[in-house]
Amino acid sequence: MGYSREVYDAAMAALEKRRADARSRAAALHERVVERHPRAREIEQEMARSAIQVARAVLDGRDVDAAVEKIKTQNLALQAELAAILAQEGAGQADFEPRYHCPCCEDTGYVNGHVCDCFRALLREEAYRRLSYSGSMQAADFDSLKLDYYPDAPDPRTGVVPRVRMKEILTYCRCYAEDFDTASPSLLLRGPTGTGKTHVSLAIARKAIERGYGVVYGPVQMLLHKLEREHFGRADGNSEEMMTGCDLLILDDLGSDFSSPFYTSCLYNLINSRMLENKPTIISTNLGQNELMERYGEQITSRIIGTFVPLAFLGRDIRQIKFQQKIR
Ligand SMILES: [Zn+2]
Repeated sequence: MGYSREVYDAAMAALEKRRADARSRAAALHERVVERHPRAREIEQEMARSAIQVARAVLDGRDVDAAVEKIKTQNLALQAELAAILAQEGAGQADFEPRYHCPCCEDTGYVNGHVCDCFRALLREEAYRRLSYSGSMQAADFDSLKLDYYPDAPDPRTGVVPRVRMKEILTYCRCYAEDFDTASPSLLLRGPTGTGKTHVSLAIARKAIERGYGVVYGPVQMLLHKLEREHFGRADGNSEEMMTGCDLLILDDLGSDFSSPFYTSCLYNLINSRMLENKPTIISTNLGQNELMERYGEQITSRIIGTFVPLAFLGRDIRQIKFQQKIR
């Protein structure tokens, strides 16, 4: 997959930071050790001198093997002494060297001129992040969705208790996020505005990203707008490729988007190609089946209804409840 200059630069900056962090951690330990144990610096100097002694033995025409053997023994003793000092500081000799995030490329991003897997992962993560909704994902986790906001009396029409239903949905979604893999089913989060659909889908996205999956998430309107701009040459990018190829695509608030034949055909292509490749998609909407049918037609609706696991959110608009509590 090709990436824009911005994505490349941001991923490279992240890599450089990893490298610098690894080096400064090793340097800080080194500084602490030699300050508290002056003998450690002497040992280092003695070990450095031994290399020179070997070179001198060669130049002077002395018995090189005997000289090397002698220096080897000295060095082993020095190393053991240094190890004992480091042990007092709770460190090992390897800690004197930078511990890179990726030992394969030592956080340079390249191995023998080829792009390292760690850099590839950073590029992908950065590209998905830029394509996705930039709102406050940090705030969205399963623990911060309070069940108290959902009524605990049965709905007079259906007899279902919203709080009980939401508890079941939360449990299901938490497990879904914790066990997420590319074979997970697609989900349809349906229900009235403000009942937590976006919050739950962001919490799933966050967990999946933490576990290393490539996730693109955002309001349908925003994502389709990006596709439109690229399609008509008003922006560069490969959003379509990323939305089709990512491990999890989250289309939030289907139905709030501006309706046009172009958007409908984009949506169909996205849903259909991901379905053919068995890639999971999460859609949230406050539209019912008939409204979906009216707005997006039979092809899209039947695919969603036929293959997505439906989760019906219940309750009142949490934002309104919070607002009322505030002004009371
Ligand atoms: Zn690497």
